[in-house]
Amino acid sequence: MATEPLIRFHQVTKLYPPDTVALEDIDVAIEEHEFLSLVGKSGAGKTTFLKLLLKEEEPTKGELLSRGKNLAGMEGNELLDYRRTIGAIFQDYKLLDSRTVYENVAYAMEVLGAPDDAIRRDVSEVLKVVNLLHKIDQFPFQLSNGEKQRVAIARALIHRPQIILADEPTGNLDPYHTRDIVRLLLKIHEFGTTVLLATHNKEIVNLLGRRVITLDDGKIIRDAQEGRYVI
Ligand code: ADP
Repeated sequence: MATEPLIRFHQVTKLYPPDTVALEDIDVAIEEHEFLSLVGKSGAGKTTFLKLLLKEEEPTKGELLSRGKNLAGMEGNELLDYRRTIGAIFQDYKLLDSRTVYENVAYAMEVLGAPDDAIRRDVSEVLKVVNLLHKIDQFPFQLSNGEKQRVAIARALIHRPQIILADEPTGNLDPYHTRDIVRLLLKIHEFGTTVLLATHNKEIVNLLGRRVITLDDGKIIRDAQEGRYVI
């Protein structure tokens, strides 16, 4: 029997009142272990696509399924478990300025009441992946933008997510740090994590040469394996 895709959008439309159509009739499946880019101009619907996946917004029509399970019906512990399968990173890092690198990454485990030794072990492990163990006691203001994004990636990895959602993660970075972050996302993908990268950076998308979904005005106008960013 064929297994259900990791994520499926089934005829999903998202309207924002009074009359903005952010996404229209989206049908798409994302398989486990894919590395896919979601591209399109500003306002095309990329962030809304990610917010629906994070269940920060609900579809106006249609369904979102995670391994066949409708997100609409999820609540309580089931919803928390689902959210823990997702690691999200953003253009503006969303770090806590008054906390150290360690504390920023540890926070997500602390709120779950994890024991201190498990927190120390897991935080060290993810900081090693992003090559920031040597900055563990620094505060965000002491870091470069590229390092801040690496802390955010470490934080996203702490629950060993199945999928990383990256919303314009290189938007504030220079070309050197942009490549660094893309290399890191590729490394995380090689470990077996699905990566969904929303961006309007043509250069990195074309460099990646993976699946590219192009959104325009809320619609998928192209979905190509080994695609290029052409609008
Ligand atoms: P992108 O991430 O590609 O820039 P968005 O998903 O942010 O696109 O936006 C898609 C459309 O929905 C745009 O027209 C935007 O102005 C609109 N939009 C996004 N968020 C809201 C909101 N909370 N309320 C009303 N309109 C919104």
